[in-house]
Amino acid sequence: MIKFSDLQKINRPYAEELKAVAAEVIDSGRYLFGPKVLQLEQSLSEYLSVDHVVAVGNGLDALRLILQAYIEKGEFNKGDEVLLPANTYIATFLSIVHAGLVPVPVEPDFETFNLDFEKLEARIGGKTKAIVPVHLYGRVCWDGNLKGLAAKYNLKIIEDNAQAFGAEWLGQKTGALGHAAAFSFFPSKILGALGDAGAVATRDAELAQIIQSLANYGSKDKYQNLYKGVNSRMDEMQAAFLLVKLKYVDGENHWRRTLAKTYLEHIVHPEIILPHLSNVENDPSHVWHLFVVRSQDRDGLKAYLMDKDVQTLVHYPIPPHHQSAFKGLNHMSFPITERIHREVLSLPLDPSLSKESVQTVAAFVNGFKGC
Ligand SMILES: *Cc1c(COP(=O)(O)O)cnc(C)c1O
Repeated sequence: MIKFSDLQKINRPYAEELKAVAAEVIDSGRYLFGPKVLQLEQSLSEYLSVDHVVAVGNGLDALRLILQAYIEKGEFNKGDEVLLPANTYIATFLSIVHAGLVPVPVEPDFETFNLDFEKLEARIGGKTKAIVPVHLYGRVCWDGNLKGLAAKYNLKIIEDNAQAFGAEWLGQKTGALGHAAAFSFFPSKILGALGDAGAVATRDAELAQIIQSLANYGSKDKYQNLYKGVNSRMDEMQAAFLLVKLKYVDGENHWRRTLAKTYLEHIVHPEIILPHLSNVENDPSHVWHLFVVRSQDRDGLKAYLMDKDVQTLVHYPIPPHHQSAFKGLNHMSFPITERIHREVLSLPLDPSLSKESVQTVAAFVNGFKGC
């Protein structure tokens, strides 16, 4: 069986180190507000070359707290609009509505699965305050004109970097490109904790300060509450695990690129469309969180591969605007997004896989006769 994201196998190379730091945290008696979280914030800040990193409870909160902080700062008002790709994971949508803002979906580009920058400007209105580029599947969602567009309309660019830790655009890391960025360290993400964790990165010192308070009941000094905050703190244990895994993430991403290249070289099938990127192995703009192909008979391909003992997943089967949770958006039509959700299939790709397993999957894919 070739599993999809086998976490036990992914963490096995680091198991001894992880157990050692767990013991260290247990023995320290410091489980929250301790040195590991501070050290992680410092290490991430250096990794990203961004002055301020605030560790929080998860990626959804990271996004939501950025938006809420802009409201507390007086830059956004409740009811303002935020542009985001229509095909993103539901968390991006949820963070916006949780902050009292309005999500305005924009169709993605069919080739990259990322925002179609040509379509952004037409969606900007009087209430638009922010753009959320999502580096979906690990691929940088950025464009040389994005900053200029944001400046023209006085918009904030808030990166959803849950899926692309370590990716780069012209030498700058994702999460360092916009005004603020949210990270998720959910176990199966590129930099995965052993539980929930997330972070915010920003060069805006005041924003970072507000987020730090918001994540701790809206309090900076104990028992003085400046904002109606939440409880969204990263604990010492997760910070300790992340400090271990951060050391290896670039090496893992390098291996992910090698595996992606292996798929691209070995899959040859007239009806299966591969993600396009030239010079895959050396292109830092993709870290291959997911290797996503398209097929008009996606469900057939998925069942066929399961039959061959290859696990695959669909990211994602239902577009956010068709979800029951977003009844207000159900009437909208996004044909490209809908087609993506009908046709995408994620093949196994993670740092624990060998080149041989990827070649095996590729050979099975080539033998698919369903279309
Ligand atoms: C995982 C993910 C999130 C949310 O992160 P959690 O840590 O699970 O809360 C947000 N956006 C995207 C695109 C994600 O993939």
